[in-house]
Amino acid sequence: TGLAGASEEQVRRDDRAHVFHSWSAQGLIDPLPIASAEGSYFTDYNGNRYLDFSSQLVNVNIGYQHPKLVAAIQEQAARLTTVSPAFANDARSEAARLIAEIAPGDLNMVFFTNGGAEANENALRMARLHTGRHKVLAAYRSYHGATAGAIALTGDPRRWPSEPGMPGVVRYWGPYPYRSAFHATSEAEESERALQHLRDVIMVEGPQTVAAVILETVVGTNGILVPPPGYLQGVREICDEFGIVMIADEVMAGFGRCGEWFAVDHWGVTPDLITFAKGVNSGYVPLGGVVISDRIAATFSERPYPGGLTYSGHPLACASAVASIEIFREEGIVEHARALGEEVIGPELRALAERHPSVGDVRGLGVFWALELVRDRDTREPLVPFNAAGADAAPMNEFAAACKQRGLWPFTHFNRTHVVPPCTTTADEVREGIAILDEALAVADRHTTA
Ligand code: PLP
Repeated sequence: TGLAGASEEQVRRDDRAHVFHSWSAQGLIDPLPIASAEGSYFTDYNGNRYLDFSSQLVNVNIGYQHPKLVAAIQEQAARLTTVSPAFANDARSEAARLIAEIAPGDLNMVFFTNGGAEANENALRMARLHTGRHKVLAAYRSYHGATAGAIALTGDPRRWPSEPGMPGVVRYWGPYPYRSAFHATSEAEESERALQHLRDVIMVEGPQTVAAVILETVVGTNGILVPPPGYLQGVREICDEFGIVMIADEVMAGFGRCGEWFAVDHWGVTPDLITFAKGVNSGYVPLGGVVISDRIAATFSERPYPGGLTYSGHPLACASAVASIEIFREEGIVEHARALGEEVIGPELRALAERHPSVGDVRGLGVFWALELVRDRDTREPLVPFNAAGADAAPMNEFAAACKQRGLWPFTHFNRTHVVPPCTTTADEVREGIAILDEALAVADRHTTA
């Protein structure tokens, strides 16, 4: 094809001339051209191989270029590459059936989108129409996507340039034991106080005005915040009490990432709507969606659902989801992810924390972990300030550069480095990556006051 054999220089030159990149000042970036990828590694044009502790944007759960997944996409491409959402299609039906099968409780129908933001847009629309209410409670320290509604739901600085966003968004604090908004000193206290806070917000907003509570089951980019025991069950109870739709955003946390099919399974909670994308097919073809409870689906059984997308349930994307779920089952990938977290990543990261004064907190489950880096363990002063940029962010940038020099691609955000490799990464590969983190953390340690 015209693509094979392009030189690194050509790729870089055309990228800088013509590709307008996400979230970036176009004149200040120099994206690394990637030549190939396999398993848990990708390789640049100079033959430098990186162990991917980021799974790109925490989406390549099955690893790169899984041969069976690639073959399934090739087969579907040869059969039927596109058909409108108005028709029925085997790849789409089977993807929906399988997703309903792995989803908890009575979440039996799937509305397909092209990604996570569109999934959240549609979940919110469903909740509003189902309840006839307009407000939505969304957490600080969250990310829900970059379309108009999803960025308005987002509780991090990526929302700021888009303000004022959507009317009806009300903000609340979720649990975060390490930096508790509730001055809690134990997980039990954190859970109880976060629930009382949510209840108070609903009371003063007027429960009859609140359509939905949206939360990331385990908060992703904003810190791998694992809810303390009882929290999600408590949110479920509050939503039931007031007739509020519980939306679990599992775009990042779902499909094996937390060592479960869906992260809510870890706590045995059934939300009314689950939004997904990323790990459903590891981004081999763009796909996302909303898994819908029977009760909400029934709202739209006689009355049309006012929403759609040309590529909703795209056959190529759906065929890749079918193949991905089958491969997950055949290879026990969910179980592998859970064991990696319990037996390798968790223990090894805790051992790192003992050696490095810059590590303030270690938290996570499955293949979804964070090291929170601090200047001082006693005061918990972050290694870099919240939303740091430029010179302020230098300690984290130096740490990331030290990882890359040693062949590890890290996922860093503010004062944290996340350990989020593909769910298929082997224990030895994880240890290889953590050994590099061990060396790179010496860079962070130099910025501590201890
Ligand atoms: N929700 C969560 C929790 C996410 O992590 C993301 C993406 O990072 C999104 C939604 C948005 O997904 P997309 O980028 O596919 O629109």
